[in-house]
Amino acid sequence: MEATLEVGARLSKARRVAVLTGAGISAESGIPTFRDALTGLWATYDPEELATPQAFERNPVLVWNWYAERRSRVAACVPNAGHHALAELERRIPEFLLITQNVDGLHGAAGSRRMVELHGNIRRVKCSRDGRIVESWDGDLRPPPCPHCGAPLRPDVVWFGEMLPEAAFARALDAARRCEVFLSVGTSNLVEPAASLPWIAHRHGATLIIVNTSMEGQRNGPGIVHLTGAAGTVLPAILAGLALPDCARSPDTGRL
Ligand code: NAD
Repeated sequence: MEATLEVGARLSKARRVAVLTGAGISAESGIPTFRDALTGLWATYDPEELATPQAFERNPVLVWNWYAERRSRVAACVPNAGHHALAELERRIPEFLLITQNVDGLHGAAGSRRMVELHGNIRRVKCSRDGRIVESWDGDLRPPPCPHCGAPLRPDVVWFGEMLPEAAFARALDAARRCEVFLSVGTSNLVEPAASLPWIAHRHGATLIIVNTSMEGQRNGPGIVHLTGAAGTVLPAILAGLALPDCARSPDTGRL
């Protein structure tokens, strides 16, 4: 409780905030982690057999169908209190960037706008030849052809061994270097290069706040605050503790 208040006080004064989210924030929306998604028919596969450019080249129908199944599961899920709290935090902070490793699109559905999706978005597809986004497509059982060049369409997600979108990562890096507070939410911090962002922010003087159900493997030290708990509980509690902007609470300013 004390730590939540401390974080609320720190955020109330901050003008520049960056947030990194991972699969944990969507757990309460019912979206399984990568490995948990490999159940039933898919249980015998290794994620790296399904989420690499080589896998798609070898067996495009298999990969397309796995993503089609994940897409339909994601479509049935809605944002939770954690996603909504971050959308609200964005409205209160002048310079804000949400950096997500998730591909489920739930931050956008909750209303987040100042955001980069570092690993893409499973709800979209793109041309496997030139990466052009294709808005609508037919084809449930095999990858349909790109309407522009005929190459097979693929999910718009970053696969193992692929580079992150350059502009998106540059924006995330800039936000990490400039922010006063960096929140790391629901991520195991194992997947590079996103995993480095919290430490880059910390090295540049930001207070680092880690929200996770488990602090195993997370760093400790001065300037690092741990809030152990589910994102859907901890983030709304932080928001509830945020002081209103000065102009809204001091009657002597003559403003609201
Ligand atoms: P991860 O699965 O490695 O780690 C999830 C973290 O969330 C763990 O540290 C866990 O302790 C924590 N956690 C679980 N439930 C939580 C909750 N309710 N509140 C707060 N924390 C909670 O996830 P990662 O670090 O994002 O890395 C996995 C990779 O897989 C990423 O690249 C991501 O793109 C991808 N992925 C995305 C989704 C999605 O889009 N929802 C789902 C699975 C995997």
